[in-house]
Amino acid sequence: MTDSRRGLILINTGPGKGKTTAALGTALRAVGNGMRVLMLQFLKGSWHYGELDAVKAFGDNFVLRQMGRGFVKVGGAETDPEDIRLVHAAWDEARLAILSGEWDMVILDEINYAISYGMLSPELVAETLRQRPEMVHVILTGRNAHPLLVELADTVTEMREVKHAYQKGILAQRGIEY
Ligand code: ATP
Ligand code: MG
Repeated sequence: MTDSRRGLILINTGPGKGKTTAALGTALRAVGNGMRVLMLQFLKGSWHYGELDAVKAFGDNFVLRQMGRGFVKVGGAETDPEDIRLVHAAWDEARLAILSGEWDMVILDEINYAISYGMLSPELVAETLRQRPEMVHVILTGRNAHPLLVELADTVTEMREVKHAYQKGILAQRGIEY
């Protein structure tokens, strides 16, 4: 155990619910410690999540941006080039944010999906993570985290599904899912 501060790479992955919301909880904890947090949401865009409004209370200390347009049609050649363009634009912004040192924590929400759908190279992401200023924390969320990134990460949590309300036919609930 040591007290010295250092930036960590965290991954929230697995099929169970809680990957994005755990990242938001960590962000809240960081902001409460006077840290500045940027959360970029890859792929998301069509739903209006409660957190988009909630973070406004924190001004420039907690900024959340949706970089996609919601549901992405996937599967090799079927992937819409516009969605790939949006993922690359999101990644360009994420890379600059991580390297800038302006943010204490950068959350790359759903980036694991973009990588596992073949829309973004895991090597590129790993390279930037290795180059980042040493105090910067980065959290990556989404199922099917790439092995290269799991290897690079300090803390990896796999959410396991025990049960989910959806299986009983209960639709997404305000305050729980969005
Ligand atoms: P959350 O944003 O609630 O923390 P998540 O980030 O772990 O969820 P995602 O894979 O990003 O999950 O999926 C987002 C949406 O899918 C959420 O509305 C979530 O409730 C729902 N979801 C997550 N896991 C499951 C599951 N095992 N079965 C059905 N729906 C799920
Ligand atoms: Mg999520």
